[in-house]
Amino acid sequence: MKVFTFWERIKNNNFIIKNIRVLCVLVIAFDILTTVYFSVQMLKSNIREILTTTNNEIALYIDSTLRLGTAIANDEEIKDTTIPLVERAAKLDSYTKAYNLFMVGVLDKEGNIGSSIRHKTGYVGYRPYFKEMLATRKTVLSDQYVAGADHETKIYTLWIPYYDEKHLPEGEIAGAITMSIYFDKIEDIIQNKGDSNTAYECSVVDSRGIISANNKEDMRGMQIEDALARAKWRSMSDELVKEHLKTHKEFSYWAWDRAFEYVSYMPIPQTNWLVSMRIDVFKSYSILLWSLLLKLLVYFSIFLVLSLRKNREIWLHDNLFNMMSINTDDVFGIFDIKKNKPEYISYNIERIMSVDHDEVFNDHSLMKKYFQVDFEVIKAKLFEAEDKTYAFEREWKDKSFYFKSYLVKHDGELKIIMIVHDRTEERIKNDRLKTALQQAEKANIAKTVFLSAMSHDIRTPMNAIMGMTAIAKEHLHELPRVADCLDKIDVSSKYLLNLIDEVLDMARIENDKMILQETAVDLENIVDEIFSILKVGLYKKDQKLTIDLSGLKHRYVYADKEKLQKVLVNIVSNAIKYTDVKGKIKLEVKELGCDDKGFCSYQFIVTDNGSGISKEFLPKIFLPFEREENSVTNKIQGTGLGLTISKRIANMMQGDITVKSESGQGSVFTVAVKLKLQQENDGSGQESEDAAEALEAPPDYTGKRILVVEDNELNYEIIAEIIGCAGITVEWAENGLLAVEKVRDSAEGYFDLIFMDIQMPVMDGYTASKNIRNLEREDVVKMPIVAVSANAFSEDVHKSFVAGMNEHLAKPIDIQKLYTILKRYLTC
Ligand code: ADP
Repeated sequence: MKVFTFWERIKNNNFIIKNIRVLCVLVIAFDILTTVYFSVQMLKSNIREILTTTNNEIALYIDSTLRLGTAIANDEEIKDTTIPLVERAAKLDSYTKAYNLFMVGVLDKEGNIGSSIRHKTGYVGYRPYFKEMLATRKTVLSDQYVAGADHETKIYTLWIPYYDEKHLPEGEIAGAITMSIYFDKIEDIIQNKGDSNTAYECSVVDSRGIISANNKEDMRGMQIEDALARAKWRSMSDELVKEHLKTHKEFSYWAWDRAFEYVSYMPIPQTNWLVSMRIDVFKSYSILLWSLLLKLLVYFSIFLVLSLRKNREIWLHDNLFNMMSINTDDVFGIFDIKKNKPEYISYNIERIMSVDHDEVFNDHSLMKKYFQVDFEVIKAKLFEAEDKTYAFEREWKDKSFYFKSYLVKHDGELKIIMIVHDRTEERIKNDRLKTALQQAEKANIAKTVFLSAMSHDIRTPMNAIMGMTAIAKEHLHELPRVADCLDKIDVSSKYLLNLIDEVLDMARIENDKMILQETAVDLENIVDEIFSILKVGLYKKDQKLTIDLSGLKHRYVYADKEKLQKVLVNIVSNAIKYTDVKGKIKLEVKELGCDDKGFCSYQFIVTDNGSGISKEFLPKIFLPFEREENSVTNKIQGTGLGLTISKRIANMMQGDITVKSESGQGSVFTVAVKLKLQQENDGSGQESEDAAEALEAPPDYTGKRILVVEDNELNYEIIAEIIGCAGITVEWAENGLLAVEKVRDSAEGYFDLIFMDIQMPVMDGYTASKNIRNLEREDVVKMPIVAVSANAFSEDVHKSFVAGMNEHLAKPIDIQKLYTILKRYLTC
């Protein structure tokens, strides 16, 4: 268990960390307030002390004078009314000097006075204080200074009654002792309390409300009301101040005159006077104020340094966080639920989500506008969710975003943290995978469909071949029956071969292996040949094929004759197949125009009045293995590949095949192709020659010797049988190597021709041919070598020529072609 030190505990105390600022402010406020409080208390007590001492000094002076007066009033000689006033007054002289008084006088009750000044008598019976004294029979102190007998000196007078018990009836006032106090005496006390730099101001206010004494000259003689009226502000109302002045109460207040002041009044006992003290707070307590200011400055500096440090830390953290968020591919945001506005949005929002950071930060409704991100909805979902998270996806500007939000509580406030992840790449990858999967599934389905179609289409003729073979075996001695079986086997074999050819063509088209072998051709010739090829079928069904070449202006073009013919034969043979007996078929050739590059657009339009095509089947007519299911087609053999291949070939020739048809209304197939025109007529010779050769019968080749290189014995037997019929001696080599050895070991000119299979064990036909041609003997240079291969495409033919062979004969062997080859190489 970790033991925390006291300091660590403090550092780890969350409450202290959270409220450190409040605590600091409280400490500072407490410090300042206590300083101010104690300073004010000190100020007040200082003032009171000054006032009390001032008061005491004045009171003491008055009191001592009063005691003297009282003593004089009890002096037997002085109060003896039988002694003239002048004589009595002479005795008072010494008191005046001893007590530093302006004058001491003795009065009879009429108001005549004998005074220490020149020992003269006079009359002062009119004086109100004298009258007051007579009336109240009490000592009276004049509270207002007056001018003394010299008409100059300012004095206060004390009126003390005396009684002459010896000569006057008891209780009758004999007169008064009057004592004149120098006003300056009071003034001196006040001056001493005041302060030359006016921080302190001391005054005496007499009963008339006049400031009789003040350490400031301009204040002397001023009415207290005028002095009060100068204050711009006072913590006590005017009325209350006046009331207190009138009732002689001790009171204080704060005021703003020309400076901030504290004013205090205190009544002087036994007088009608008040002594007042005024302090300029700022001047008197300037040190305190400066120290306060200094303190504040120190506190402020500490606060500034700390907050700068803190700010720097925050700035550094902010920078780090920004750097992190800018360089990552996730956008971060914090949304304050209470304030209903974002608190933070990382700047990478511009790069990742293509929106302006400040715009979205200042107006979060844009998130709703752009991404349908409604914080009210998110809030509701987050409150509902058990794990307090909520995720959703949005699409914007071809991009996919994954939003994940979390509900968190920070510093007592609820916030939504949101992380946005760009999922576009993932989505694209997923889409690609999906498409690939779909394609694979499609291809798989297509493969299954293809295989089942193939299986069906192969089994049908195979069934016929095997069945007819079985029947023929059963009836070996019935020649017509055997011949019939062989005819049917022949038909099915041809169909099977056609199927294989078409399937292979399809495969080559699918794999982009089929290429156009363009040569110079005569279109008229091609069309004529179509008739020759299909005439048997036409005769059988007693149909009429009309050929219209009137629209053909340029008959000599470059084209892949074999493929173009294949397309046309397929379409015309379909017309024958799907048109009833005595039907009418038309093949029309149209030329639509030529471009600058010498290409002309041709249309071969095949029209029939046959069964027609239903509108349901029309959209599927060019799809592989599709055949219309009806009574007509069901009886007719077909692979459903012909039109698919034809359309692809037409596409290769920059054209297309279109069809117009209705059930029972016949059909119109239009083959459109683009063909390049020939400059001169140079294409028809070769074709006619081939055609001519094919029609001729095989002559007798007795004495000629042919080497058949074939690994399959049955195939060897077939070819040996066919050529053996023409009187040719046949020798057999089971593979390429044996063939090379046989030629090498034979005499010059021993073999007249070699039939060479291509795919063989030990050594293939290409290598064997090359090796034979390379033998060191003369006859191999011109020795005809004919490839006999099941690989029957033009690419294969090309390979055979490259290997040094003269001809290419496809398996199964077309006997007519075989005879043509024999004639070509053995008759010279
Ligand atoms: P196949 O003829 O070997 O069945 P095709 O691809 O040549 O294959 O033709 C596909 C299908 O189109 C045929 O089975 C037939 O239903 C329909 N069809 C083609 N040509 C015609 C036509 N001239 N008249 C009626 N139906 C036709």
